Amino acid sequence: MTDWQLTACILCSRNCGLQVQVADGHLTKIRGDKNHPVSAGYICQKAAQLDHYQNNADRLTQPLKRQEDGSYQPIDWQIAITEIADRLLDLKQTYGKECLAFYGGGGQGNHLGSMYSSTFRDALEIPYYYSALAQEKTGDFWVNGKLFGRQNCHTTEDIEQAECVLFIGTNPWQAHGIRNARPTLKQLAKDEQRTMIVIDPRRTKTAELADIHLQLRSGTDAFLLSAMLAILVQEGWEDQAFLKKHTAGFAEVRACLQTIPIADHIERAGVDAEQVHEAMRRFATAQSATVRVDLGLQQSLNSTLNSYLEKLLFLLTGNLGKPGGNNFHTFFLPWVGHSDAQSPRKTKATGITEIAQLFPPNVLPAEIESDHPQRIRGLIVDSANPMVSGADTQAYQRAFTQLDLLVVVDVAMTETARYADYILPAASQFEKWEAAFFNLEFPTNAFHLRKPLFSPLADTLPESEIYRRLAVAIGAIPERYPWLERVARWHRRWPQLGLYRLALVTAMTVNPKLRHTVAFALQGSLGKTLPDSSTAPFWGVSQLYVQQHGEAVARTGLPGRGGRLAEALFQRILQGSGTAISQHRYEDTWSLMGYKDQKVRLAIPELLEELQTLQSHNPWPDYPLMLIAGERRMYNANTIYRNPQWRQSDAEGVLKIHPTDAATLELADGDQALCESPWGELSVQVQLCDTLRPGVVSLPHGYGLDYPNANGERIRYGPLLNLLTGAQHCDRISATPFHKNVPVRLKPIDKT
Ligand code: SF4
Repeated sequence: MTDWQLTACILCSRNCGLQVQVADGHLTKIRGDKNHPVSAGYICQKAAQLDHYQNNADRLTQPLKRQEDGSYQPIDWQIAITEIADRLLDLKQTYGKECLAFYGGGGQGNHLGSMYSSTFRDALEIPYYYSALAQEKTGDFWVNGKLFGRQNCHTTEDIEQAECVLFIGTNPWQAHGIRNARPTLKQLAKDEQRTMIVIDPRRTKTAELADIHLQLRSGTDAFLLSAMLAILVQEGWEDQAFLKKHTAGFAEVRACLQTIPIADHIERAGVDAEQVHEAMRRFATAQSATVRVDLGLQQSLNSTLNSYLEKLLFLLTGNLGKPGGNNFHTFFLPWVGHSDAQSPRKTKATGITEIAQLFPPNVLPAEIESDHPQRIRGLIVDSANPMVSGADTQAYQRAFTQLDLLVVVDVAMTETARYADYILPAASQFEKWEAAFFNLEFPTNAFHLRKPLFSPLADTLPESEIYRRLAVAIGAIPERYPWLERVARWHRRWPQLGLYRLALVTAMTVNPKLRHTVAFALQGSLGKTLPDSSTAPFWGVSQLYVQQHGEAVARTGLPGRGGRLAEALFQRILQGSGTAISQHRYEDTWSLMGYKDQKVRLAIPELLEELQTLQSHNPWPDYPLMLIAGERRMYNANTIYRNPQWRQSDAEGVLKIHPTDAATLELADGDQALCESPWGELSVQVQLCDTLRPGVVSLPHGYGLDYPNANGERIRYGPLLNLLTGAQHCDRISATPFHKNVPVRLKPIDKT
């Protein structure tokens, strides 16, 4: 291989390894990297379009400042940094640190900069960290905290080895989320010794491959899952030995499940009782079984309760910590934290409690628009586009005009950036060293630090430098670290002596404040001896990872122990290809739990209570259809693809509807219709689709962006679906929006 370079796809959390060719600033050829330790050459059709991310009309090339008339003018980097720092400090001094918030900080593939943005957040003491992850997964994290002792005890699925796989609310054929989705699904489907069960209101490609498809009524997951669990205890299929050895609280759970009216719950879910019984039998009696879920469950009604019930399925059947089951994985650098149950932070206006150190985008507009004296007034948005992706676009539009200061750091002029006071242009993910921290594999975990393919465009900077400059400007860090720099140079010559490690520990002991800005200290000292200074924190990350998982790191074939092993891991990572970082044993899963006694606490009283009072009540009888707001399709992705021409099909982002519903509404294929929800309305193009359950309609995510047409006029392409969603339509614990169950009605738009 001569002119092929290594990188990774940045569109979803799989981050498949790629080999690419580049010419004249473009990605010209893209193929899977067969040597990648996780993806092994696999890619889907979306990766081929990555040049649309790298090159598009909305790329930012210089810092911009909003003028009084709303237009933007270029501004010198240093002036912008100084003005932003002064205004942030002024807000903090006037209203207290609670008036500051941060949103984003990395999407699917750009997490390296988040080591710097989070350090800057800490340095400025910004208390509120909002993230798109907190409109998807925080119900799951909350449940993990209760069951396993820490909210970041995150499980993965051993699908390749499982005898029975249960997919709930996910279509890996399109959404991926599992290793090499399509061959994995085909193999599973073809093997007669194994069972694939799918729970989904759509007959997806995954469902078509399944042995059993439970096409439930939209939003009834909690009814169906609780019925399955009730069947399990009724039949005595629970794994008694596992429960005794590894869990506490089964008696309470069983008592609750014994009260579930199984037939009634199955009827409410609208599925066949015999099929449900058979699905539960196969799952419970398999030698190994695993559950894979995604947003179809987590953004459905009863989101947090759903997360609890799906975990009870693999826990009560003894499928945690074994081949073919669900297992905890390690984090090379955690992208999710743990919020202490004793003293969690709460927002001022809505009183929502942080989960996994994250706050939900659903409440952000209310926190800005509130009349609370410490309402949010200053916001930094980094690599995120909440104006499009947050629930209730209208609320975001109102709220962002109420901010005293909005700073956007991004590669492109987004819908959110158009509300900013300052726009700081970041180099693209292919113009700097980058990495994703979605290291979700078990037993072999892997990491991929990516080298740049291009130089930074025009006057753009990597986030590591943007936040370093901001941190200097607020007085949190010095420009230079002369003493550490000197030791770092010695360290480069004699790494085996461990001098740099000793110097850094000494510096942090003498100056404890350095602990809070250590990423910048590494960047400014060790970083000067590396090909790129931004990668230096991975030296520290390697040290910590070896401290926690040294034996597993050594099993990957690296030499040494302790500091030497960490050095070897760091050097391996710097090579810039996907690489194994640890090789665990299945029994390690227990030491990755939060509870010291390594016992799962099965009973979560709040959720058992919720289960017993479960209601299927539709408070919006005038909106008879349930919209899946944000379906994954062949050609939709996150909003980093701005140019609509990347799509090879479905340019309109059609609303899919069952022919029976369409006939009732006198709608035909290709008709325009007005889609109304209790919160807004949207004009859509209709497509008839008999794979949906009647009563369910779907729209894709990733549309509704403004992009210039051939004449330079900005046009909105496809449905901006958060015009239909409402912030209050969400989970009571996590505030996760119920995007998969948005009540809507449709009216034909007169063609005349
Ligand atoms: S979008 Fe496709 S190619 Fe890209 S990371 Fe995800 S599965 Fe891999």
